[in-house]
Parts: sequence; C-alpha cells; structure tokens
Amino acid sequence: MIAKNRSIPKEIEIYEAIIRRLPVNHPRKAEFENKLSRKRAGYKGEKELDYHISQIDHSKFTILNDIRIPFNDTHFQIDSLLISNSLIILIDSKYYAGTLEFYPEFNQMIQYLNDNEKVYPDPVLQTKIQARQLKAFLISHQYSPPPLEPFVAITHSQAIIKNPTQNKEVSQRVFKSPGIFYKINPYLEKYQKEIISDQEAKKIVKLLLKKHKPYIPDLDALNLPYGELQKGVECPACNTFGMERFHSLWGCKRCGHTSRDAHVAALKDYFLINGQSITNGQFRDFLGISSIHQARRMLSHLDLNISGEKKGRIYTPGKSIPLWG
Ligand SMILES: [Zn+2]
Repeated sequence: MIAKNRSIPKEIEIYEAIIRRLPVNHPRKAEFENKLSRKRAGYKGEKELDYHISQIDHSKFTILNDIRIPFNDTHFQIDSLLISNSLIILIDSKYYAGTLEFYPEFNQMIQYLNDNEKVYPDPVLQTKIQARQLKAFLISHQYSPPPLEPFVAITHSQAIIKNPTQNKEVSQRVFKSPGIFYKINPYLEKYQKEIISDQEAKKIVKLLLKKHKPYIPDLDALNLPYGELQKGVECPACNTFGMERFHSLWGCKRCGHTSRDAHVAALKDYFLINGQSITNGQFRDFLGISSIHQARRMLSHLDLNISGEKKGRIYTPGKSIPLWG
C-alpha cells in the first residue's frame, strides 16, 4: 500500500514558469531549459523506480515516497521508504549518467562522463546515514524499530556501475531499478520475524506523515533573472502575454481569445517565481491591473489565505493553489 505518493519536484514548476516568461531570445533561456530537462530526467528515473517497486510483492509493506523529516536542527530525506513489521527498507535514487566507480573506503564515487571526471559523496554511505537518522528519530519517539536496510538505486538506464575494489556492501546495496527485487529479496528472507505489531507499524507511518516537511527551494540560490521576466496574464490560446481585463473577462489583443480565469495561472507563476506571498500592489503590477478595488475583488475570490489589515494585507496560497504541499 502506498501511503505517500511522489509529487512533481518544485524546481520543475519553477523552471517551467521561468522559461514561459523569459523573452524568446534571452541569453539564459538555454541554461534554464537544461536545468529543467535534468530535473525532469531525474524525476522520470524516480517514477521508473516506483514502477519497479510496484512490481514486487509489497503487500506487507507501506510505502512512503519523498519523505523529509526535521530532526536535530536538520532534515533527513528518503526517496523511497518501505515499512513492514519485520523490516524497514530505505532507497536513495541517483540519476547519474556515465560510468560510476564506487570507492567506499574513501567515501566517494567517481563519475566518468564525456571525458570528464567528477567526484561525489559515496551514495551507500549517504543512505546508511539516512537509515541511522531514521532509527534515531524513531527511538526518540519511543519506538524500537525493526532492522533498517539501506539501498541505492541508480535510475539512469545508461549508467555503468563499477565496483573496482569488489566491496561487498556496494554489490549488495547498489542496483539498477529493474533489479530491485533481487537485491532486497535476501533481506526479505532474512528478516521474517515480526519485530513490531501491525498497529505499531501503522503508528510509525502516521508519525512520519505528520512530521513530513515538504522541501521548499531556496529561490535566492536559483539566481533567477527577475528583472527580465515578462509580466502579465498569458493568453491560453496563443501564449501571448498581456491579456487585458474588461469587466469580468480577460481578452487577448492578438487573437481575440477571452478567458474568465487566465489570471489564476499568472498568480501561480508569481508564487513560484517570487515566493509564497503577494500584496494587492504586487498583484496589480504583475498582472497589469490598474484598479485597486478590482484587484481586491479578484484576490478575495481566489481562496487565498489572508493576513494583515488594509494596505498591509498579504495573500498566501490557499487550498485552491496548494503550491508547496
Ligand atoms: Zn491570444
């Protein structure tokens, strides 16, 4: 049973909004298109792993995807977590191309790709640290968890995995997505004894869902070209920016298309690009609305969360625009 599905990474939505709003020949367009395609490829790799997990008999397991738990002033994040009453399996997915050589004795993995050599932290060590953190978290909540077994899925189908030192742990814990069953099966056979009750396993799942804090990208770190993005409402028919509002309709100057709610997509773009709050003034500036009263009416119809009074009023995404859920 799946208790938490994987959602689209926020960076994908942010980069899509940026690319939509960058002028056609902008010098940074290709940079953001590259970032977007890398993120999309990584997400695709994770979804493929989800498919292979769904192919194994997971009737004993509850599956949590993309869980991020605050613990000891930091967070630990687990891509795929499988919980049963006899075993907890953690899987970290890595979407790396090229030839990957594992050197666990030096805590590193080296990637050879297009005549380049790049070093990464040892993924096996990383997932072992996640397992240790999860165990400490569960113990701090008075659980005595069943054994935790960490794995690393290499989700890029073209990657070549090498284990030059023939390290036992690398060969036991690292796999390509289609091979998942054969890697975890020895552990399923080894740990058949019930360590916690079904009820306790359910409680652990509930606790993790409750403590989960979704990752919010740091917009400052993305170095977005704020001044150069096109403002305005995009025509859903011809993708031209700058629809104009007449009474309760948006009209496109270019193709004549009209829309009642084209501003909702623009507001979502604003939240993705600028962060999670907007004032009446910012709303008017971004959407090209001159009337403060009209802007207030539109904002009040959007089911946003409102804080502050009068001019200091701030709107944040509500249930109808759950951007960071
Ligand atoms: Zn149009």
